[in-house]
Amino acid sequence: MTARLIDGKGAAAELRAKVAGEVRRLVAAHGLTPGLAVVLVGDNPASAAYVASKKKMSAQSGMLSFDHRLPGSVSEAELLALIAKLNGDPSIHGILVQLPLPPQIDANKVIEAVDPNKDVDGFHPLNAGRLLLGLPSLAPCTPLGCIKLARIVHPSLVGLEAVVVGRSNIVGKPLAQLLIGQNATVTVAHSKTRDIPMVCRRADLVVAAAGRAGLVRRDWIKPGATVIDVGINRVTDEGGRHRIVGDVAFAEVREVAGAITPVPGGVGPMTIACLLANTVKAACLSAGLPQPEL
Ligand code: NDP
Repeated sequence: MTARLIDGKGAAAELRAKVAGEVRRLVAAHGLTPGLAVVLVGDNPASAAYVASKKKMSAQSGMLSFDHRLPGSVSEAELLALIAKLNGDPSIHGILVQLPLPPQIDANKVIEAVDPNKDVDGFHPLNAGRLLLGLPSLAPCTPLGCIKLARIVHPSLVGLEAVVVGRSNIVGKPLAQLLIGQNATVTVAHSKTRDIPMVCRRADLVVAAAGRAGLVRRDWIKPGATVIDVGINRVTDEGGRHRIVGDVAFAEVREVAGAITPVPGGVGPMTIACLLANTVKAACLSAGLPQPEL
C-alpha cells in the first residue's frame, strides 16, 4: 500500500482564497482592511525567507502588510518600544515577531509584550491559557494547520488515538490542546518517552514535531494511520546539495501509512495560510465583529 499524499499546498491555497474573500467582505461592508506587522530581527536567512513569504501572501490576500527589520544588535528595550507602538496602531491587527531572537533579547518578554488581541502567533500566555481552558483564543498557526490537514483525511477527529511527538510551546503542546478540543485521545511523546515506536504504533494519527530528520520510521506506524510531518530539517546529501526533509522517513513510512504530508509542501504552507486567517480573526475581534469561519 502507498499512502495518500495530503496536499498541503492545495489546502493552503484554498484557505488563502477564503481569507481573501473574507478580506474583500470586511473592506466592502465595514471599511476594515486587516493589517499584519511582521518584525524581523537580524539576518537569519531562514527567518528572512519565512518573513518574505508571509509578506507576499498577506499582500496577495488583500491585507496591509507592514515590515519592520531591525539589526541583530538591537536592544531589548528598542524592540519592546516598537511592539508598544504597533500595539497602539489601529491599522495593525496582527503582530508577528519572527523567532528566534538574538541572545540579548528575552523572547518570553517580547511574546508577553504583544497585545493578546493582536497575537496572531498565539504565543502569548493569555492565549495559551485560553486554549488550555477551551475558551476562544488566537491559537498557534502550525498546530492549526496540522488540524486542518488531519481533517482532510478524517472529517471528524472524535475518538481518534493521536500521538504528538514533541512538546514545544509553539507546536507540540498547543497541538495537543487543539486535538483534545476536537475530542481526540491524545498522547504527547518527547525525548524522554520510553519505547516511542510502541507509543506511536497505537495511533490513528501521528504528528511528528521533533526537529529530527527521519526520526519516525516505518515500524512506528500502524498500517493505514495518518502521518503529519511538521519537521523542517536542512540536510546535506552525498552530492553536497542541501535539501529540506521532515521528521518522518518519508519513503519507508509512505509504504505503510494511509495518508501522509510531504515536506516541503505539507504543514509549511498551511502555517502561513493559518497566520493570514488569524489576522482576519484578530481584525474582526478589534472591530467587535463576529469571527468568520476560516
Ligand atoms: P523544539 O526543538 O522546540 O522541540 C522539539 C521537541 O521534540 C521537544 O519537545 C523534544 O523533546 C522533542 N524531541 C526531540 N528529539 C526527540 C526524539 N529523539 N524523540 C522524541 N522527541 C524528541 O522544536 P519545535 O517544536 O519548535 O519544532 C519542531 C520541528 O518543527 C522543527 O523541525 C521545526 O523546524 C519545525 N517547525 C515547522 C513549522 C512549519 O511551519 N512547518 C513551524 C514550526 C516548527 P524534549 O522536550 O524532551 O526535549
